[in-house]
Amino acid sequence: MKTYTNSVNGQSVEAADHQEIFNPATGDSLGLAPLSTESDVGSAVDAARLAQPGWATISDQERRDTVARVAQVLEDNSEYLAELITREQGKPLSGPGSRFEMQACVGWTQVPAALELPPEIVFEDEKRKDILHRVPLGVVAAIAPWNWPLMIAIWQIIPAIRMGNTVVLKPSEYTPIATLEMVRLINQVLPPGVLNTVSGDGRIGAALTSHPGIDKIMFTGSEATGRRIIEASTRNLAPITLELGGNDAAIILPGTDAGAIAEGLFWGAFLNMGQTCACIKRLYVHESDYEAVVGALSTLAGQMPVGDGMDESNLIGPLQNEMQYNKVKELVADARANGCEVMEFGNMPDTGYFLPLTLVGNIRDGQRLVDEEQFGPALPVIRYQSVDEAVASANGLGAGLGASVWANDPEQAQQIALNLEAGTVWINQHGAIHPMVPFGGNKNSGYGVEFGLEGLKAVTQPRVISVKK
Ligand code: NAD
Repeated sequence: MKTYTNSVNGQSVEAADHQEIFNPATGDSLGLAPLSTESDVGSAVDAARLAQPGWATISDQERRDTVARVAQVLEDNSEYLAELITREQGKPLSGPGSRFEMQACVGWTQVPAALELPPEIVFEDEKRKDILHRVPLGVVAAIAPWNWPLMIAIWQIIPAIRMGNTVVLKPSEYTPIATLEMVRLINQVLPPGVLNTVSGDGRIGAALTSHPGIDKIMFTGSEATGRRIIEASTRNLAPITLELGGNDAAIILPGTDAGAIAEGLFWGAFLNMGQTCACIKRLYVHESDYEAVVGALSTLAGQMPVGDGMDESNLIGPLQNEMQYNKVKELVADARANGCEVMEFGNMPDTGYFLPLTLVGNIRDGQRLVDEEQFGPALPVIRYQSVDEAVASANGLGAGLGASVWANDPEQAQQIALNLEAGTVWINQHGAIHPMVPFGGNKNSGYGVEFGLEGLKAVTQPRVISVKK
């Protein structure tokens, strides 16, 4: 059985303890992932601290060139890593699956490599000149979730490295292997100590985020863990970028052509089997359009090939883990017990954490499947009578990551969008993130943004040089 390792100071380090990782589609063993100790966390932070001053003092151009070489390594190894993602995480190779995740890893590395944050004259008159420089924070702790394990790790580590920080990354305990392999490959072109890993569950995450040697925390995951991380950061006062859960509402304005938007709605809701932070998790449809929208989504859901994602003909795979599988089943069972109409599609394989693509009708705000983040392939479709009522519903929960408005007239949709409490409101698309466009949550979905120049600023601190003339 293959044993995977952490990377510390450019070396593969053997762990004393391991956990076996299984394919969620087949139950096959994938090998042993390392389990770090608190002392391993200390060694990884020490390595990152030691490497940071040297990495910060090489020229900006040299760092950009190195990050561009990282993008090339990702591109060269994308098929190997995509297959590992499919085996470990479950999303299919095809469609918006693991090859798509690898393309995103490459793109989200190329863009920071191309961006610049030069010093900025923020004030000047005859007496003084004030120049704002952006300097690295130091050592960044990156804590990743299991749904897009490599892409989200890249979002966290690449801007940090680009700006002269060093990193200690902890992948999710559900999906460590593909991430550790990606880091091993990336480290072929990074100087030792710039990118290090530790592995394990929340205890190791807590040891890392509370470590006094950490200067910044990048966290993507659930709201509950986000709150714990804020508490942990009182030990090191590290600023945090918090990307937390979403419960994104999509509102279809009355009279919108259901056939024209069905595919966008479908993938907006069922991308990665719904295990995506910014997926449509509540769909609000005017009562006069309800039958047409449910009909169009049902047709698509009924046609989707479901199964082991290593088979290139499949577009829908299993849920990633038993915990999530049971959670989604429980929410659907709760809806059924409360009289909702549960519409299930697809022929499920006998093994693995497969759940049918599910639309749930005759459901209202206040029911668990609407109010809780399902993070799975079960979409509540809620009828509304007035657009004001739909907007109030969309804004009625604590989450504020994304939202979308769907309409024949995009101008009309933009007016509605301004009233939605979310970090991003998409028009006639959902979850359409881009490496140049800042992305982050409002309300309980977190704070801070990633991507683009704003994302680079978030992994620096301002240093003002103020000159008397
Ligand atoms: P999670 O919070 O359970 O785990 C995320 C990571 O935090 C894991 O690596 C875990 O080991 C670690 N962790 C757990 N306890 C910790 C602690 N006390 N201190 C430090 N680290 C700790 O989340 P998950 O189940 O892996 O991910 C799903 C959630 O993430 C969903 O709510 C989803 O919406 C959200 N998410 C948000 C975004 C975004 O960009 N906003 C993106 C993807 C996922």
